[in-house]
Amino acid sequence: MKQFKTESKKLLDLMINSIYTNKEIFLRELISNASDAIDKLSFKSLTDPSVKIDQKSLPISVSFDKDVRTITVSDNGIGMTEDELDKNLGTIAHSGSQQFKDEIEKASDNKDDADSIDIIGQFGVGFYSAFMVAKKVRVVSRALGAEKAYAWESDGITGYTIDPAKPDERPNAEDHGTDVIVYLKDSTKDEDTDKYLNEYTLQGLIKKYSNYVRHPIQMMVTKSRQKPKPKDAGDDYKPEYEDYQELDTINSMTPIWKKQKSEVEQKDYDEFYESTFHDWAKPLKTLSFHTEGTVSYDALLFIPSQAPFDLYSKDYQKGLALYSNNVLIQEKCADLLPDYYNFVHGVVDSPDIQLNISRETLQQSAQLRAIARRVEKKITQTLQDMRDNDRENYIKFFNNFGRGLKFGIYNSYGSKASELADLLLFWSAKEKKFVTFKEYVKAMPKDQDKIYYAAGESQDRLAKMPVVGSAIKHGYDVLLCTQDVDEFMFQIMRSYHIDAVAGDSEHKGTDARDLEFQNISKSDVDFATKDEKDEAKKATDENKDLFDAMKKALGDKVTDVTVTAGLTDTPARITATGPVSLEMERVIAQGPEADNTPKAQRVLELNPTHPVFAKLVQSQKDGDEDKLKLYSNILYNQALLVEGLPIDDPVQFAAEVTKLM
Ligand code: ADP
Ligand code: MG
Repeated sequence: MKQFKTESKKLLDLMINSIYTNKEIFLRELISNASDAIDKLSFKSLTDPSVKIDQKSLPISVSFDKDVRTITVSDNGIGMTEDELDKNLGTIAHSGSQQFKDEIEKASDNKDDADSIDIIGQFGVGFYSAFMVAKKVRVVSRALGAEKAYAWESDGITGYTIDPAKPDERPNAEDHGTDVIVYLKDSTKDEDTDKYLNEYTLQGLIKKYSNYVRHPIQMMVTKSRQKPKPKDAGDDYKPEYEDYQELDTINSMTPIWKKQKSEVEQKDYDEFYESTFHDWAKPLKTLSFHTEGTVSYDALLFIPSQAPFDLYSKDYQKGLALYSNNVLIQEKCADLLPDYYNFVHGVVDSPDIQLNISRETLQQSAQLRAIARRVEKKITQTLQDMRDNDRENYIKFFNNFGRGLKFGIYNSYGSKASELADLLLFWSAKEKKFVTFKEYVKAMPKDQDKIYYAAGESQDRLAKMPVVGSAIKHGYDVLLCTQDVDEFMFQIMRSYHIDAVAGDSEHKGTDARDLEFQNISKSDVDFATKDEKDEAKKATDENKDLFDAMKKALGDKVTDVTVTAGLTDTPARITATGPVSLEMERVIAQGPEADNTPKAQRVLELNPTHPVFAKLVQSQKDGDEDKLKLYSNILYNQALLVEGLPIDDPVQFAAEVTKLM
């Protein structure tokens, strides 16, 4: 008896004890494995001339036996060797990701709550799902070209065995493929497993979950026919009927992506999406398009309604499934999707992709590049359309995947900005809702020549920053940015281009121009009116000594102490000069380069209209150096706190505040 690997054991334990109500999906999983095995065989036959496949032997067969209470799913696919049985069925095959393992760990600790249900739906648990309904599973498999067949058997609890198959199980070379025999658990009051031993139930499940599997799924079904009329039948003869059994193909087989959107109900797309891409939520958007011409193809794409758990991990693989003439060429063809649309799932099927092409040379194919360009354009159009006509869903989309779009701009050194910038949303401090750059620009006062943003950890905090309040008070809106990538992206983009505006708009006569992005926490930003500026100038001229003294008191904490106009209710603020902003310093300090964090050059800016300013002037006049030092430190530290930045020495700060009191 061999033992399951640890993660497999946990998953099995979850399966067996699962309160997951959707146990019937086990059939879908077994059929989909059979279908994969046939795909692998077809692919092999295209690339390896010694493999010839007999078209007639490709169906997937589903059968049941009421007496021994089994359901069997069989295929004539590629099969598994003794080794592969061990490797593939003894370990979780479909996800090596650490997070997956962690999630299982968590879920198996609290089996009874919603978490454990989620994990089953979320990850698409494949083969092991059979143990939700089985007390034993026997897998008989003969690999293509293998000497003999082997049987894997397990109750899902104690471990598994692998032995040579019985003499009558797949005895001949052409019997390559696999039978998965599910021995159903006993039916109980709570759990009806008898229902699966019924041809109508099974047919229903096949239609529901596996209708678009491209290989025929066959089952013996009961049909009824009229008995031949006896020769001696009298005038009052009524036709008689009898049942008979016949092998029937249950699924429609036409791949769903070959159908026109109008022919398919959304629920079928949803079902296909959920089962194929292992998502437990319906897609946010479904795109189906078909092209004929120099390159012909059918494409079916989905935008998920939530980000997959591993989207931002390095294990995540983007890509679309690539088919050609019904053969799966590549499960995740990365070249079909740009990185910033890595969240899109789907299928591309094109007869023009050379079938004998190797996976390595695939990416050089001109056809593939042409398809990729079209796919990208279609996704962009769909997003634009959602942005303009379905903002609510677009916001949902953006919350999940917007960060990736921003990285797209950043990673392309801005060359993708013209395509992606208008897909971005930002929180408007003034409107208190998400806006696009275009909407921001449209609402700008005529004299505004920059796009203002504030960057920091929380929207709330940013909204309370004195300078944001001051901007709004002076009629300017500020985009509140809370993602790590935001400011780096702005630096790469530098500016946002607006086209010339025609004569009848608010901005009439505006020429095409570039609006620079301006971090509002930079020292050269102020929104003051002329009067306020004059006052600031006067304060600056009159108090040179005060600033020098404060600068001395603060030491190397600041590069300058100045006066700023237009701060209304706040005594002082911290700004940065030079290339590194305060927010960038914060983001970098959290990353792997923390030790080498470049420091923002800080400036303490004082509000000359605030009563505190008068106090400072007074203590300078009195020559009270200790007091001035105390005031300077407190002002500096509280300004840092307001910006959401850490203060150097909280203990000292507390002591100073206490002293003041
Ligand atoms: P997945 O299908 O996501 O890889 P599963 O748990 O469903 O994960 O299956 C595990 C592995 O077992 C598959 O990757 C495949 O290698 C193997 N396998 C399962 N069923 C079959 C089958 N009918 N024929 C050949 N191999 C199979
Ligand atoms: Mg599977």
